Amino acid sequence: MKFLTCHLISKATLFYTLFFCFVFTLNAQESKKRLPIIDVHVHAMGGNLNVPPLCPWFLKNMPGSGPDQEQPSFMNTNCISPLQPARSDAEMDAAILRANKELNITMVVSGDAKAIHRWHKAAPDRIIPSLGISNADEMTVEAFRDSLSTGFYKVMGEVAPQYQGMSPSDISLDEYFGVAEELGIPVGIHMGTGGNGMANLSRPKYRASLGQPFLLEDMLARHPKLKIWVMHAGYPMVDQMIALMGANAYVYVDLAGFIWSYPLEEIHAYLKRLVQAGFSKRIMYGTDLMIWPGLLETSIEVIESANYLSEEQKRDIFFNNAVRFFNLDASKFE
Ligand SMILES: [Zn+2]
Repeated sequence: MKFLTCHLISKATLFYTLFFCFVFTLNAQESKKRLPIIDVHVHAMGGNLNVPPLCPWFLKNMPGSGPDQEQPSFMNTNCISPLQPARSDAEMDAAILRANKELNITMVVSGDAKAIHRWHKAAPDRIIPSLGISNADEMTVEAFRDSLSTGFYKVMGEVAPQYQGMSPSDISLDEYFGVAEELGIPVGIHMGTGGNGMANLSRPKYRASLGQPFLLEDMLARHPKLKIWVMHAGYPMVDQMIALMGANAYVYVDLAGFIWSYPLEEIHAYLKRLVQAGFSKRIMYGTDLMIWPGLLETSIEVIESANYLSEEQKRDIFFNNAVRFFNLDASKFE
């Protein structure tokens, strides 16, 4: 849901609050005991004064609207303690670094190149840069290959053709996937969720039907060595997701976005279904973190509180599955 922020900034009312209540409660001593977490889905950005606070699980209420009525509300701030946005680049950078060190979170990060470089410089072992492209107009294949060949970017993502009205198997993206396959770069593709009224609000080309996991099949068949993960786990199309993962052993999913936006019961039902179907080794933890740093702890708590997951399954989701998927060295995280 990387376009959420742009929309918010353009529409936002300035919510000025005298206290910034985002804190990581752990002290440095406690943090040494934290087991490592890999968040495979983070969007790099700076802070902003004009973004409102956010209530987790705000999509539990999706009000109706009409073309001549008030725009449907994408989110609400009607909760007891909404999460506060970072109000400056320095605040955002500090929050990321605290998460890297105190929460022991390593992040796969795409988005604003300047922020990615700043974050990577501050914590080179905890930031994995990712290069996103969703449309051939953004970058030539040669430029894409050159960027990946420098070695700075280790991942391709977030690839989000759905917002452009395109299938992930659209032939215009095929050469880019070919480069990733050749260089052994794993790819994250947005499939599924877009929020309430996305097509009406800011993305007229967005099509719900273009988030169907089955649309990946032709592309996967053309690139048998490509490793992909389906961002947002193709929510809410769990049947297609299960069938696709059953047919393609290299396909993983992440839980980003819907883990803090859709109703909690719905999130747990979806995750439980994927686990019940036998895929607990293919689910990776991800947040879709944007400007509200508190989403990190909010999302961790969803997994921690899932009573249908064993401790081993939680560790797989938080860490082990991403280590396997991205070919990381687990000993570097101890
Ligand atoms: Zn997305």
